[in-house]
Amino acid sequence: MSKPAQSHKLLAIPGPVEVTKEVLHAIAQPPLSHVSPEFVAVFRDCIQMTRKVVDTQDGQPFIIAGSGTLGWDQVAANLVEPGEEVLVLKTGYFGDGFADCLRTYGANVEELKAGRGSIVELHRIEAALRSKKFKAITITHVDTSTGVLSDVKEIASTVRRISPDTLVVVDGVCSVASEEIRMDPWGLDVVLTASQKGLGAPPGLSILIASQRAIKVFQTRRTPVTSYFASWKKWLPIMTAYGNNTPAYFGTPPVNLILAYHASLKQITGTAPSLDERYRLHKQVSQRIKALANQLGLAQVSQDPEHAANGMTAVYLPDGVVASDVLPRMAAKGVTVAAGLGDIKDKYIRIGHMGTSVVDAKRGDIDTIAESLQASLKEARAAKKDIVEETP
Ligand SMILES: *Cc1c(COP(=O)(O)O)cnc(C)c1O
Repeated sequence: MSKPAQSHKLLAIPGPVEVTKEVLHAIAQPPLSHVSPEFVAVFRDCIQMTRKVVDTQDGQPFIIAGSGTLGWDQVAANLVEPGEEVLVLKTGYFGDGFADCLRTYGANVEELKAGRGSIVELHRIEAALRSKKFKAITITHVDTSTGVLSDVKEIASTVRRISPDTLVVVDGVCSVASEEIRMDPWGLDVVLTASQKGLGAPPGLSILIASQRAIKVFQTRRTPVTSYFASWKKWLPIMTAYGNNTPAYFGTPPVNLILAYHASLKQITGTAPSLDERYRLHKQVSQRIKALANQLGLAQVSQDPEHAANGMTAVYLPDGVVASDVLPRMAAKGVTVAAGLGDIKDKYIRIGHMGTSVVDAKRGDIDTIAESLQASLKEARAAKKDIVEETP
């Protein structure tokens, strides 16, 4: 395996993330026929291992070419009919995106917005659920713009208690494989995610798992599905066939990406480390980065340590320092982190710590991130001080 090009910087953003050499190797193969026995077996394994990652026995995975956003379209097009009510919990930028997508397909959306850096309080969710009948509720497990971690288990049990028919839909794009998520035990109806964050493959796959209850809701809808490419009418037979080790065709799957996803899943669902150990390692690394931020005087965007993501950290920069003062300095030290998102995007930065960077300590990625953050911030502060001192 050759090393990545010299110019490759350590990718420490909240997705895409660094990938293992096994994943790199898998994607660099000559393409297989998408209906060959070899590929069909790989796809079947991906379906089985995807179930394992989110802890479901009979949830139906959909693995489709597209980015994470396509999961929103799948939910909006297949599970919600025009005019139906959906409750969207907003803990950052991605809640708005999901709401916008749902409205595009004709849903009536009610948004419950959290204060910046906070979760939506349970009593507000309860009140909303009692106020009218919602077809679905959407929760962003980790909102990648704020680093806020919502308590999916608690919200799902509240929904089941107050409004048992409401579908519980989780945007887990920035959480699956880095935060604990248990589809069957917690009673979740949809978990949607993508290949490039905790799942440790390159971007390009929309990965969604639907409960049998959600599939039933889809199969008994009264109005036609208003999407072609995102329609489960097209994809359900394909996924069922692949699951049974049989070829089927609707839209050529991105075979090399599937090979890469397969390689990553084998590592994630393997025994060392186990999934639980993986979650623990993400917590441990997250605490280290957050402690460093604290020591550097950087406040977290997420207000409450109990509801802070473990796969990423969003921190405010000191007064007078903006993202464009810090990012190029970190890049010069070989590390890519992300600016903020939304209306305060220059005032904070986001550091991703997911996947192999966390799990494979030998890489030394976390040390590299910590050192470059510390040094770059020092430089940025010194540069500001020079400017202030030069001004009479
Ligand atoms: C990244 C992300 C998305 C969007 O995924 P894309 O692959 O960029 O389309 C959606 N929701 C959350 C929470 C995300 O972190």
